[in-house]
Amino acid sequence: MISFEDINVLIACEDKQDRFRLFGYFDEKNCDAIYTAKSLDQAMAAIEKNPAINCIIIELSNQWINKPAQINDLRKQIEGAYIIGLITQDVRVGIDAYEKMEEVIDVMIFSPVSVNEIDIRLHKKDSQSHLIEAQQVQNDDELQYYKELYFDASSIPKVLINAKDQSITEYNKAFHELFDSTSNQLLGEKWYAFAKDFSAAEAKDTRTKLNEQGHTHLQLTTQDSQGRKRKINLHLTMGVVDGETIYLGEIENTADTSFYAKVFNHIRKLQNIDFSSPEINTHIASLIEWMGLDYCFIIGKSASGRYDVMIDTFTDEKYPLSFVQCDHEFILRKLKGTRSVEISQSAWRDVPADKFLNQFKTEHFLAYHCFISDKLDELFIAGGQNTKHWDATKLLMSDLADHYNQHLAFKALKKSHETESKHDALTGLINRRYINKEIDHSIFNAQDGDMFAILFIDLDRFKVINDSLGHDIGDEVLLSVSNILMKNIKEYGVCARYAGDEFMMLLNNIESKQIATTVAKRVLKDMIEPIQLSNGSEINLTVSIGISYYPEHGQNRATLIKKADVALYDAKLNGKNRVSIYRKSQKGETAKQKIEMERNLRNAIDQGELHAYYQPKINARTDDIAGFEALIRWVHPDLGLISPGLFIPIAEQSGMITEIGYFMMRRACEDLVGLQKKFGLGLQMSVNLSPLQLNDKNLITEIRNIIQETTIHPKYLDFEVTESEGLINVQSALSAFKQIVELGCSLSIDDFGTGHSSLDYLKKIPAKTLKIDQSFVKNIGLDQDDEAILEATFNMARKVGRQIVAEGVETEEQRLYLMAKGCDYFQGFLFCRPLPIQEITKILKQRASMLKEMNQ
Ligand code: C2E
Ligand code: CA
Ligand code: CA
Repeated sequence: MISFEDINVLIACEDKQDRFRLFGYFDEKNCDAIYTAKSLDQAMAAIEKNPAINCIIIELSNQWINKPAQINDLRKQIEGAYIIGLITQDVRVGIDAYEKMEEVIDVMIFSPVSVNEIDIRLHKKDSQSHLIEAQQVQNDDELQYYKELYFDASSIPKVLINAKDQSITEYNKAFHELFDSTSNQLLGEKWYAFAKDFSAAEAKDTRTKLNEQGHTHLQLTTQDSQGRKRKINLHLTMGVVDGETIYLGEIENTADTSFYAKVFNHIRKLQNIDFSSPEINTHIASLIEWMGLDYCFIIGKSASGRYDVMIDTFTDEKYPLSFVQCDHEFILRKLKGTRSVEISQSAWRDVPADKFLNQFKTEHFLAYHCFISDKLDELFIAGGQNTKHWDATKLLMSDLADHYNQHLAFKALKKSHETESKHDALTGLINRRYINKEIDHSIFNAQDGDMFAILFIDLDRFKVINDSLGHDIGDEVLLSVSNILMKNIKEYGVCARYAGDEFMMLLNNIESKQIATTVAKRVLKDMIEPIQLSNGSEINLTVSIGISYYPEHGQNRATLIKKADVALYDAKLNGKNRVSIYRKSQKGETAKQKIEMERNLRNAIDQGELHAYYQPKINARTDDIAGFEALIRWVHPDLGLISPGLFIPIAEQSGMITEIGYFMMRRACEDLVGLQKKFGLGLQMSVNLSPLQLNDKNLITEIRNIIQETTIHPKYLDFEVTESEGLINVQSALSAFKQIVELGCSLSIDDFGTGHSSLDYLKKIPAKTLKIDQSFVKNIGLDQDDEAILEATFNMARKVGRQIVAEGVETEEQRLYLMAKGCDYFQGFLFCRPLPIQEITKILKQRASMLKEMNQ
């Protein structure tokens, strides 16, 4: 209706949240001017001062509701103004007042404001009548889709009522069938005409309730054209369709035993089915009985390559026992090409070679291939002589098999992390998990007088090499270092790649502490030699080493490692390229160090030592930048670049993470708004949220403030959260997630696949996106099990409607593979490293000029 450049809008509304959303919406549309007012007086003053105001949004709260005359005055004062009424649910509105308001207001919208709804109000004022679920509206197509899905095709009888004159304006097929009306007799009638003994006075009561509460529940007796009576429950909700106030009536038909109702009921139950729950058997039993199936069981493939292992049966064991003894050549051949085989009627005559089908005279047969990896390859089988509802059975069984497949995928996912290999893929050294076990083992078996040492080894300035010379060189360096470590550890113990550029030695068989320092010093000495790279160049590198001893410095693994780490930190602080042993006398110093580290961190923000770097996320289909992930960087004056992997845990331990988190959030929002102003792109910004931040009571308020102050539109702000066990309080985390989404922001699940949460929990996180962990991406082309897990993850994500971001994409091979699997976004060194805002700006500039050239 109006072009936004000509809109001078006044938002007169008490509710801060609504005001804020409305402001964001108009601001984004580059509206000419936006004014806000909290009260009637302020609004009036604003209008007087700014006669150009031509669009007013008025919250119909107590302030305004009984003042239609005043609104009319406004209308006269600013000719041709477009007035939108904002209906709040918490204000009691009498019918009379309400009707009067309708006369002076152009359209109505609902609180909490959905910007999409305003969009539709302003843009698509002329489109056909739509049923609007305020929160869900996206665009025209989607609206139509919702209407079809939730109204037309719904099995629940539904009716639309014009609130003004109480007449029925539309109803769906189910409603039509319920009343058995041969013509459209009910259209135009008062809605309570279909209720028996319902008086006009009662109708008025109902209206009042609706106006006050937005919804109400009634029990009515109805009578159809043949005079049959029945009791129904009617649920009425007030809504707005194209500016008209309506009531949506939904009938819960207590006597309804229709077939579809049952199917839908089963489907609904299936949505919540969980194969690991103890109720699964009763769940499936009721399904099998309703479908009239004789058997339903699961068979697994054994090492022999045959499907001959009974995994589970929901019916008599004789069926799977017979199944594993017969050949199923036909079925298996078919299953190679497709995922399922569904044969209706005379299966046993159609496939005479299958003795199993013959033995039980199976008429209807269903088999689904549930495949995760060669080790998890199973068949979901069902069938019977008298299946009652074939189409519904197919639907339900295939859904059930899908659920089972997801269950398998999830099981595999968990298992893969439990039975992860012992070795680090790059260096061949044992990995963190394994050395942890070895340390535990040593402690457990230690006799009186036994001693051992832990050496924590960290490369000095490795990050710089990795970031400036590239990952391949970084890998070569890590490999060389691991060779030096292996050479020196000899028979004393084991050596592991602990994480990134951290290594650890466990020196088991030492009689004196001397041995540990000797080994450490030899390592330093060997590091003096430059490392030869495959491209012919050389590189000089040093390491720092921290040592702790059992039992002197600790009796358990955590303490021992922590003390070695403290010693390592000490070595770094004292100038790197040295060995430091944890000292008891250091204790005071350590505390001091920790305080210092905390103080440093605290100062880091003020000193400008903390920086936000941004790594682009790439849209897999368009190859274009879709958004960024904000990654923190700490440039310490003495220690150089400190990796977030190192200081985020310290920040978490000390509680500093809250402050650092807000710093990053604010910086990222500011920078994104800056980019949007420069380039006008709808780019997304993802900010990492530590699990600890979820326990922060002020989190939501702070996010809200940051949004408001930086003027970022919440829909561009995404938070990456992990499915970690660190979420001590799952309930409070879930509630934080919910509130974040309510603010209009989105959520991504970070490091997906590495956590230990249940599928059920994942479903509860209202995340739009899953970020596949780097470890899976790394193994593309190398590890078939990981690939199978990736594939299952993609299927799972698609099923629950999540988008997928693959992180750590480094090679073209990985990209192609992920692309083929339908990955939505990529992030990784192949496309771009994390960069400071200036660099990002440059890239976007280049992009813009490239686009310009292309368009010329
Ligand atoms: P993350 O959230 O999983 O971030 C992705 C990490 O992968 C980043 O490491 C990024 O630099 C790195 N990366 C991206 N592409 C590639 C690739 O192709 N290959 C390889 N090898 N690495 C790649 P970074 O920046 O060192 O961050 C490490 C972790 O520290 C992050 O892992 C995140 O958990 C945490 N972190 C970083 N910034 C923040 C922050 O502002 N707040 C919080 N709470 N945590 C942060
Ligand atoms: Ca992240
Ligand atoms: Ca990640």
